[in-house]
Amino acid sequence: MVRTLTNAIHADRLPHAFILTGVRGVGKTSTARIIARALNCIGEDGNGGPTPESCGVCAHCKAITGDRHVDVIEMDAASRTGVNDIRELIDGVRYRPVDARFKIYIIDEVHMLSSSAFNALLKTLEEPPEHVKFIFATTETRKVPVTVLSRCQRFDLRRVDAETLITHFNSVAEQESATVAEGAMGLIARAADGSVRDGLSLLDQAIAHAGNAEGDEVSEEAVREMLGLADSGLIYDLFATAMQGTVDEALNIFNQLYDAGADPAIVLQDLLQLTHWLTRIKLSPAAADGQGISQMDRERGLSLAETLSVPTLGRTWQLLLKGLSEVQSLPSSAQAAEMVLIRLAYMADLPSPADLVRSLKDNPASATPAPQATATPSPALAPPQASQDDGGARMAGGMGAHDAMPQQAPIADPDPAPPIQEMQPTPLADEQSTGLQSFEQIVAMFEERREGILHATLVHHVHLVRFESGHIALRTEPEAPSDLATRVSKFLSEWTGDQWLVSLSEEAGDPTIREQLDDKEAARRGRATAHPLVQAALEAFPGATVEAVTERVPEEFPDSVDEDDTDDDIETEKADP
Ligand SMILES: [Zn+2]
Repeated sequence: MVRTLTNAIHADRLPHAFILTGVRGVGKTSTARIIARALNCIGEDGNGGPTPESCGVCAHCKAITGDRHVDVIEMDAASRTGVNDIRELIDGVRYRPVDARFKIYIIDEVHMLSSSAFNALLKTLEEPPEHVKFIFATTETRKVPVTVLSRCQRFDLRRVDAETLITHFNSVAEQESATVAEGAMGLIARAADGSVRDGLSLLDQAIAHAGNAEGDEVSEEAVREMLGLADSGLIYDLFATAMQGTVDEALNIFNQLYDAGADPAIVLQDLLQLTHWLTRIKLSPAAADGQGISQMDRERGLSLAETLSVPTLGRTWQLLLKGLSEVQSLPSSAQAAEMVLIRLAYMADLPSPADLVRSLKDNPASATPAPQATATPSPALAPPQASQDDGGARMAGGMGAHDAMPQQAPIADPDPAPPIQEMQPTPLADEQSTGLQSFEQIVAMFEERREGILHATLVHHVHLVRFESGHIALRTEPEAPSDLATRVSKFLSEWTGDQWLVSLSEEAGDPTIREQLDDKEAARRGRATAHPLVQAALEAFPGATVEAVTERVPEEFPDSVDEDDTDDDIETEKADP
């Protein structure tokens, strides 16, 4: 912004209007005043022109800083949104400034203006008098008409990052002779969320809140209490016990927090924040040395992060996120939070989907929900890395990557898993060059050749009675056109070069293709739901439902677990990122 402004001043090409955008409290109106000073400063000697570095001592600079310059008019559009307010303002535009170079209008929250007010303003912006400048400030540029935006020099003020906030707040605290603990400052900066003003007011409160006696340190605990945050030590305890699966203890700690007045939703938010923090330092431990990181986050965080895997942290995050929305939407938030903690404790104990599939493959009989089985793997379960062509490893590979050697089945397996599926090429996959060998192929051909209406009729309203090469007998429903047989016969003969006889029959025949597909889908869903892995998931996550069953191509899942000619697979969360 400084560079753009400097260039504009040096080139004597000052825009007539500026618009400053950014989150609340980031310094938009302060910046507007700085620009106003830059435009109206006359320098210490009283002879200067517009300058990017206003002197701060001339009459204009002082008056603008003191908010009492007669030619710098500030208006809050949030309270004066009407067209009359703007008319009044625009009337003043005609008059020359009283004693400054420019008459400057600073309009805060400009997006709040009514559309008629914007229209009135636009006329002035289209032909502004030489002696007038506008500076708009807004948190929401999208609500400002493009016609207005296009006439402004736009500056986006970025959210102030936590490090900068902390440095700034520390110097403010020093001026106030207040001592603020590092962790406390970190909390204030985090709560400020990029807003200098919000952060300063929190700092002010914290100093007033904690500083009973001169020189008293503003402790992290005091700020935590002020912000309504739970005791961070207890949050760590809660997280650790839940992840260890000790439900009793986790619920005790939660009740302790709840009794002390902590909001259950805030507790879950704290747990989410902690999960994020642990994941971050797990991936880059150096982050723990950053500014404003409390002793607790640094030391306990690092040691806790060591015990957890990134996939576990990822699942924890998702579980907490879902739990948070439940806690926020249910009337009994404490109960909802307890249920989330219980789920968390059981999830920590639950094998990952990859482990489950692996143990299912190695030992189908014991693969039903028995979390302990994988929490402490029995010696019978070979670790996946034990051998490359071991069945378990191949299954695990199938979850994430293509298996390069699908043919190396575990022949020597002493207790071979029953071949749950016989791999058969589906008839539709056959090449057309081998001739049409089923009614389904014929129907598929009508789709390929874009005979949409005939194809739909064949799928929905036709029962196959008999199929031989060159001869098909069908029973049609009343919805099918009367000349269906003739047309199908004509197209088939045309496309294949062979004679096809299509006759109508009174016999019942097979169900329609649509009916067969529906039955198949219902069966597929039923089978997927009955699968031990799915059953375990449904049990572990109450309220979960089977949403969709998708198929994988056989190469990807060579010895899949199924019982008919399709290769079903249940969509599960990927275990590894
Ligand atoms: Zn000045």
